Amino acid sequence: MSAFGAADLHAHSTVSDGTEAPADLVRSARKAGLDVVALTDHDSTAGWAEAAATARDTGVNLIPGMELSTRRGWASVHLLGYLFDPDDAALRAETDRIRIDRTSRAERMVERIGHDYELVWDDVLAQTVPGTTIGRPHIADALVAKGHVRDRGEAFASILHWRTGYYQPHYAPDPLVGVQLVVAAGGLPVLAHPAVSEERIIPEDEMAELVDAGLFGLEVHHRDNSPAGARVLLGYAKRFGLAITGSSDYHGDGKPNRLGENTTAPEVIERIVSEATGSRPILR
Ligand code: AMP
Ligand code: FE
Ligand code: FE
Ligand code: ZN
Repeated sequence: MSAFGAADLHAHSTVSDGTEAPADLVRSARKAGLDVVALTDHDSTAGWAEAAATARDTGVNLIPGMELSTRRGWASVHLLGYLFDPDDAALRAETDRIRIDRTSRAERMVERIGHDYELVWDDVLAQTVPGTTIGRPHIADALVAKGHVRDRGEAFASILHWRTGYYQPHYAPDPLVGVQLVVAAGGLPVLAHPAVSEERIIPEDEMAELVDAGLFGLEVHHRDNSPAGARVLLGYAKRFGLAITGSSDYHGDGKPNRLGENTTAPEVIERIVSEATGSRPILR
């Protein structure tokens, strides 16, 4: 029998596009009845220390992680990494590069939006804390503050949608490089929401490449995966011997996703804790 209870392996804080500070996120996990929570901010480990301190105080098990931005062609591919070494030089260099380009990309988008709506860069900065990994959600929050849209959802469906002329891409490495970086840093890589309906599901030969590089698992249970897509993912998991995870992708008030709405089996948590070599979980 496993020692672990309900586990949610995907959540964001104000270090990226969540609306709760890392400490508050861990407290929310406790309130939601979770036994294990992973902090997975976009392209940053800046929240690990604060989350760890609160996890020790509140008795929640914490798995420090990250959601690394990668891209293949036009498709944005999100890669979750767990228990890697946060000081690994190669991974740090890559996340620094991504965050720097995310900022200039957001500035370019605000410049374009500013031609048609009253919006300046300071409006976006007002929606962040120092060091935040800046993304479209912060532009969305600024558009809300300015009264241009009602909420993030409306901003993404209109002004921030890639089909509009305002969208700009940002630098991101190939998913294969992402897997290699996380593995080299002693962590376990898991493809985030790989069957989001709008995006293509990665073909089997490309999946085999990622598996050869050390891919650990697939986030099969996620509200944005299409049901048909999730079935394809289950087939991949079986064929390639990949772990299956389930998570909320909690963003505080920034999204309707609730902590614990999907969970990961205790056996998978045991494997993550025992197989990762880059850093240790905070165990209660
Ligand atoms: P970016 O990486 O800057 O292009 O922004 C993508 C982020 O926006 C994702 O990490 C999502 O969390 C968030 N996002 C995407 N669609 C929505 C939506 N409809 N409502 C709120 N947040 C969203
Ligand atoms: Fe996000
Ligand atoms: Fe994601
Ligand atoms: Zn996420």
